[in-house]
This record gives sequence, C-alpha cells and structure tokens, in this order.
Amino acid sequence: MDKGKSRLRKGGIQPRLGTAERDVIALGIAAAAIIFIVGKSGVILPQLLRWLAGFGIAPGKMLVNALLFNVVLIIFGWRRYRQLSAEVRERRKAEEHARVLAETDPLTGCLNRRSINDATNRLTARSVGRGEVVAFMMIDLDNFKQINDFNGHSAGDLVLQRCAQRIAGLLPERSLLARIGGDEFAAVVVFDRNREDVIDQLAVAIEQELAQPESINGSDIKVTASIGIARSDAGHASEEGWNDTQVLMHMADIAMYHAKKEGRNCYFWFEESMEAELRFRNQIENGIRRGLPLGEFVPYYQEQIDLQTGELTGFEMLARWNSPTLGVVSPDVFIPVAEQIGAIAELSESVIGQALRDAGAWDPRLTLAVNISPIQLRDPWFAQKLLKMLTEANFPPQRLEIEITESCLHENIGVARTLITSLKNQGIHVSLDDFGTGYSSIAQLRSLPFDRIKIDRSFVTNLAENKDSAAIVHAIALLGRGLGLPIPAEGIETNDVLLELQRYGDIKGQGYLYGHPQPADLIKGRLGDMGLLNPEEAEAGAPAPEAHGLSAEIDPAPSALRRQGPA
Ligand code: C2E
Ligand code: CA
Ligand code: CA
Repeated sequence: MDKGKSRLRKGGIQPRLGTAERDVIALGIAAAAIIFIVGKSGVILPQLLRWLAGFGIAPGKMLVNALLFNVVLIIFGWRRYRQLSAEVRERRKAEEHARVLAETDPLTGCLNRRSINDATNRLTARSVGRGEVVAFMMIDLDNFKQINDFNGHSAGDLVLQRCAQRIAGLLPERSLLARIGGDEFAAVVVFDRNREDVIDQLAVAIEQELAQPESINGSDIKVTASIGIARSDAGHASEEGWNDTQVLMHMADIAMYHAKKEGRNCYFWFEESMEAELRFRNQIENGIRRGLPLGEFVPYYQEQIDLQTGELTGFEMLARWNSPTLGVVSPDVFIPVAEQIGAIAELSESVIGQALRDAGAWDPRLTLAVNISPIQLRDPWFAQKLLKMLTEANFPPQRLEIEITESCLHENIGVARTLITSLKNQGIHVSLDDFGTGYSSIAQLRSLPFDRIKIDRSFVTNLAENKDSAAIVHAIALLGRGLGLPIPAEGIETNDVLLELQRYGDIKGQGYLYGHPQPADLIKGRLGDMGLLNPEEAEAGAPAPEAHGLSAEIDPAPSALRRQGPA
C-alpha cells in the first residue's frame, strides 16, 4: 500500500480511537468520584450540614474541596454519558439507513438483487411449516430498450417506477418485490401448495396491468412483459423440501426465457424439459463464439429462376454452420441465438464477405441475394460497411440484392426507410422478404422504396391444394401489379405449384423443385458445366469446372440451370 493511503487511513482512525480512550478515562474518573462520594459522603455531608446550620465544627477543608470536586466530576461524567448515548443513537440510525440503501433499488424503492436472495430464503423457510409454498416470478419487460431509445432515459426511468408500483399494487400480503436488473423484476409470493391457479391469475393480472398505456411526457407508452415462474418445491428440491433462492431464480429465468421465445407478453411455469432446451441453447451459443473465428459459418446458395423461361437469374445466399459436433446446422437455429448474443453482425459480415468472393467467380449477369437481420438494420453504419465490402471484393452493387424481413419494419420504420434509401442510392436492390407473415400496411409498402416483394414460402408450398393460400398469393400478385413491383415466390416444390405461379406472368421464384441450397464449390462446378463462370476469373486460373463432378446425384431435383423453358 502506498504511504499516502496508509497515512490517510491512520488519520481517519486515530481521532476516533482518541475519543474512545478519553471516554473511557472520563467514565472511569466519574465512577471513582461516585465511589468516593458514596464512601465518604455518609461522614462529610451530615458534618457539613451541621456546620452550615451553626452548631458543630467545620469539616476539614481538604475533604470539602474533594467532595465538591467529585460532584463536578459526576456532573461532567453524566453529561459525557448523555452525549455518548446520543452519538450511539445517531450511529445506529446511520447504519440502519445504510442497510436500507444497500438493500434497496434506488430508482424504484424495491428490494435489489442481493437482498431478495436472503428475504426469499427466509420467506420460503417460514412457509414450509405452514403447508405453503413460494412462487418466484421473474418479470422481464419486452420492449424496454425501444422505450429508452425512442423516449429518452428519463422517460425509461419513469416507466420502470410506474411498473414497480403497478406490480406492487397487485401483490398479496407477505409478498416481496425486487428489481434485479435493468428491466427485470422479481416478485415472490406465498401460496397454498394446491392453488397454483392463484398464481396463474396473478400473472395474467400483471400482464394486463402493465399493458395499460401510461402517459409520459405527452406520449402513451405501452409495456409488455414475459414472466417465468418457479415454485419453491419444484424440480430437484433440497432435503428440506424447498429450493434455495439461487436455484429458484435460475428456474424462473429459464421459464422466462421460454416465454420470450414463445412470442413474449406471456407467462410460463418452469418445467424440467426447458432446462434441456437451455443446455442446447448454451451449446449453440458457445459454438457460435468458438466457431466464428474458425470459419465454421459458410454460405450456401439456392438458385433463383425466371419461371417463364426457366433461366437461372441468380442465387440467394443462405448461411450454414458446419459445426464439428452438431453437423450442418440450419440458420433458423443459430441466427436467433447469434442475434441475442450480439454476434449477428460479425457472422453476417463473414458470410456476406465469402459470398461476394464466391459470386465474383460467377457470370456477371447472375445476381446475389443476401438476408440481413433486423438487428443489422439498427446499425447506422450498415450501408457504409456493405459498400466497403463491395469495394474490397470488387463486386458491382447492381448485382447485390438485400432481403429484409417484414418484421423489421415494425421495429422502426424511419430507420428502415433511411437504410433502404441509402442502399438504393448505392445501386443495391432491396426486397421485402417473407411477405404475408407480418402486418405491413399498403401505406408502408408504398412509402418504402422496395424493388420487389417476396411471397412467403408458407403460402406458396401448398398453393396448389389450399384455396386460402391460392387466394393470398393471388391477392399479393395483384398488389404487386398495383404497386408496380415484381413478386418473386419461394418454396416452389412441385410442378403443380409452378404451373399455378406461371399464370401470374412474368415472375421469378426458387424452391426445392429447382434445387436445395448448396455449398459454394458445388455451385461453382455446376456453373462451370453450364459455361456460366466469369470469363475474367476463368482466365485468372480458376479451377476447371469438371473437377467438381457435379451431377444430378447431388441434387435430384430437375436442374433449372440446364433447362430452358418451364418444366
Ligand atoms: P428465407 O430467407 O425465407 O430463406 C428461404 C428458406 O426456405 C431457406 O431456409 C431455404 O432453404 C428454404 N427453402 C427453399 N426452398 C424451399 C422449398 O421448396 N420448400 C421449403 N419448405 N423450404 C424451402 P434456410 O436456409 O433454413 O433459412 C432459413 C432462414 O434463415 C431464411 O429464411 C433467412 O430468413 C434466415 N437466414 C439464412 N441465412 C441468413 C443470413 O445470412 N443472415 C440472416 N440474417 N438470416 C439468414
Ligand atoms: Ca430470404
Ligand atoms: Ca423468405
């Protein structure tokens, strides 16, 4: 420790020690004085009184002085005692205040993460003896980040305070409420072990209460929450028959995570199966972190076809994870996890970078479509990053098409519009993906400068046999005509569907009928067979296409690459 600090420390402790020493000495003297008075006053006092009354001899001067001196000492001791008592009271008050502060969340006045732990343990232990159990409810606000982003942090703080008040207002007696993270609350409620329905009702009431709009700074703010609940006697309860708070919190957290996954704004009780799910998720999460720098994420490509002529127009890049333990993993599994752990931008840039290099070897007439996540839409530098990648790969922006899913638009239409406009200014095409699964209004579609609208595969795949799907595809085709936008279709699996779609005239599409997504080298081999490689690249010494030996064995679907005209 440096000298300055040790001096500071000593300086801080010494005066207090000095006062304490003096207090001990003062009280010692006062006690001695009392003993003296008790011992001597029986003799001196009557003698003194008699002398003062005029009959009797005066007591010795020394003795009288000593007596008076002792009286003074006692008064002094008494005063010091009073002072000390006041000091002790003050200190106790300060300590109590510090304890309350340490246990309380300053913003909402609820308990905090540390204090809820002990308080829950005490509550659970007490409830066991009475045939009751405790429900630990993890309440996580769903859209708090947006509230903060759009309304400012002070509005966000107000929302948190009001949420705390609203939840507290619904909790029965003996309950605990804590704020255990930014937008995460925990409510601990005692209930009869056979009356889980009471907690169900409470969870619903909390959802409903939070969903009531709150007027803050003139705007109505709505909050939804995902709730995970664990009961103290659930799962592998300990010998005493109840779970420690840490275990309870972990279970409630898993259930809350499940509620998020099931679409948010809902509640779930913890079940054992959720734990296995979570283990799998952790495996994915760690796998992504480990596999990204090792290049385990690679682009696959699915051909896009002009449905009238059967000509190949380009490819959609679809990411795959070559996991050493799990095999080839689908993006539906790893993209949402990568989004949640903040790895999506790095992952996406890695596969798009590879795709730009791969596509550089193709015939320059072939386009490349890539998907981007709503998270990347929020990145104000996304357009610049993409332009840099295009420049580095020497890839013409006109050949690139960005696919944005419909759900992106609801997050922030203003941001989406700015991004789409700046991408388009660079010559990049932008299409709206999965159309029909979200709730885009026609007004939104008109106000956003999309180049095309892709019909979601869920309507296309069963188009031939399902009247509803056929009606939706028909309506979307009319909408496209009205807006002057091409309407490509995905998920074309059969000739029947193809024939239906061809009725809509000039339309592009993709699907298993033409081919499954395949890795870069297979695609390159096929293009080589068809003479569709970039002549400049081929001259630069690209491997001979025959070397890949691509054939119908790899992809049994009729290859549109070879075919001219509809199937
Ligand atoms: P998407 O963009 O709608 O991609 C089409 C999906 O449909 C692909 O699934 C494709 O393999 C599948 N598909 C193609 N033809 C057929 C067919 O005839 N029938 C059926 N039933 N399915 C067909 P995949 O490759 O599993 O991708 C799933 C989703 O993952 C994609 O949906 C896309 O939203 C997302 N995704 C893929 N790669 C990326 C990426 O690099 N970044 C981001 N952000 N998302 C990606
Ligand atoms: Ca897509
Ligand atoms: Ca799609």
